Amino acid sequence: MTSQTGNTARGRIDLRSDTVTQPTEAMRKAMAEAEVGDDVYGEDPTVLRLEQLAAELLGKEAALFVTSGTQGNQVAIATHAGRGEEVIAEAEAHIFYYEAAAVAAIAGAQIRQLKGTHGALDPDDVKAAIREPNVHHPRTALVSLENTHNRAGGTVIPLENLQAIRRVADEYGVPVHMDGARLFNAAVASGASAKAIAETVDTVQICLSKGLCAPVGSLVVGPREFIERARQWRKRMGGGMRQAGVIAAPGIIALTKMVDRLAEDHANARWLAERLAELPGVTVNLETVQTNIVIADIGLTGLSVPEFLARLQDRGVLATSFGGTRIRFVTHHDVTRADLEAAVPAISRVIAGA
Ligand SMILES: *Cc1c(COP(=O)(O)O)cnc(C)c1O
Repeated sequence: MTSQTGNTARGRIDLRSDTVTQPTEAMRKAMAEAEVGDDVYGEDPTVLRLEQLAAELLGKEAALFVTSGTQGNQVAIATHAGRGEEVIAEAEAHIFYYEAAAVAAIAGAQIRQLKGTHGALDPDDVKAAIREPNVHHPRTALVSLENTHNRAGGTVIPLENLQAIRRVADEYGVPVHMDGARLFNAAVASGASAKAIAETVDTVQICLSKGLCAPVGSLVVGPREFIERARQWRKRMGGGMRQAGVIAAPGIIALTKMVDRLAEDHANARWLAERLAELPGVTVNLETVQTNIVIADIGLTGLSVPEFLARLQDRGVLATSFGGTRIRFVTHHDVTRADLEAAVPAISRVIAGA
């Protein structure tokens, strides 16, 4: 068996994203041994097992295995909302910011952006944004929430906030979707179960390929009738896969073995954030460091973001630009505390120009 080549093994500390995680040895073994069939015919036992597991974990009737988080969100949104309709979302939601305008291009709907607080929408704002029937108005087809919220810094949307939005949506008969790419980070950080979080929404998208270390894949979870319609959207979007059990098998390990350890990533992010906040010229809002994401503003260091990132890379540490003078660091399975203990002096030297 080939040895694992993690980030550290490649001699660099990769904090760009939790998507850079390598599949574990157990995942590689499960892939090699997966029992498979043609999933478009509904005959891949491993895919069926993964879908059933995800539905059970989130307390929903059914699930659909999709190629990516973007495909999962867009399959779900296109199933909920159609041409000329409106989707309410937070102003910097991933579905708006990072999905190549797919809501416009695929569903044909427009996004009504509402500014949130640390990623959470004000239920009164949601209520005010739901359209009354009028010839001038699009129909409000969906409220889409994001938990954890990536651009807000991996913040957890409080359960009470989700419940309040649910009540508003119910009052107007509007369904609610959750972009739960990092739903399990929210669950582990808050102590609420994934099921309790999912209970506040109709449909959820979860990613297996971020902190949970699977090489590929996401799931859309929801009512059986919805998932059957979503299956056709997946097919339409080129997501009908054949012997997909080989990629579903590591997903089963992701959901059963990799969730609890996310607490370690959160503790590491906290540790890193506190060290970064002590560095001259670096500003970190520690209040928003709730899971595995750290946003640092380097505006006062005198370095531009591209300069900063390039010099950091020369010292073997990778991070990403996050707009303006901000940089994002993400902790995950393949970075240890020791890696971070090495990263902090490297960052410090970049700032000192040493
Ligand atoms: C990563 C991410 C997605 C999309 O996942 P891909 O698999 O990269 O398409 C969706 N939503 C959020 C909040 C994400 O962070």
